[in-house]
Amino acid sequence: MKIWQKIIDWIYPEQPYCYYCGQDYFRSEVKHLCDNCLSGFKFNESFCTKCGRELLTNGEELCADCQADKYYFKMARSCFIYQGTARQLLLRMKYLDQPELAEPIGDLLYVYFCENYNNLSIDYIMPVPLHVERLSMRGYNQSLLLAEILAKKTGIKLVNDLLFRDKNTLPLFSLSKEARQSELDGVFRMSMHKNYQMYDNTNILIVDDIYTTGSTVNEVSKVLQANINDLSIYILTPATVSLIAN
Ligand SMILES: [Zn+2]
Ligand SMILES: [Zn+2]
Repeated sequence: MKIWQKIIDWIYPEQPYCYYCGQDYFRSEVKHLCDNCLSGFKFNESFCTKCGRELLTNGEELCADCQADKYYFKMARSCFIYQGTARQLLLRMKYLDQPELAEPIGDLLYVYFCENYNNLSIDYIMPVPLHVERLSMRGYNQSLLLAEILAKKTGIKLVNDLLFRDKNTLPLFSLSKEARQSELDGVFRMSMHKNYQMYDNTNILIVDDIYTTGSTVNEVSKVLQANINDLSIYILTPATVSLIAN
């Protein structure tokens, strides 16, 4: 960059703008997300202690699924509820070719991580893999974008070549529990080129965009647990669903 350009940038710094609504702002809690748009988020403040989905009571209760099911991860948490502005923002990031929206979402994930996961000694951060066909259609894996931001901000190592996705799945939330499980059978496969022993006795944080039924992250966890010894798995997603009836 030429010295004159640097001086001009210093005199006239770029006005920050909101990646969601496009408006300029002078100050905001989250970079690239204005306070007005942020006020449309509902943060997840009372949740199931295992899966992190919103419940009416906080701190002690398990949701019905977590009372009945076996999970291969220790706990899942999500920053906000998948509704309103937050839902629109995640949909745009995933389906409307707006990967830049991962930046403000990644910042929110980082704040949440610092408050909730910092004491867990996480060794690796891993995104849920995307199938290669979907990756070439979309051009990016939204979970990887979020995992990259979190890894960079925390200084924790990112792992993106341990697990592969061999098949695309139908939208899982519309299926019964049995149908979800059969849809997920054999979807994920460990890399043949990795030395898994280096992951023995470690804590891995899996990052995805939304926690709905938990079936996908549980399947990822199952495959990892089958191949790695003494592994503790934690899940973090920006958004989750609410189990409170409206
Ligand atoms: Zn905005
Ligand atoms: Zn639960």
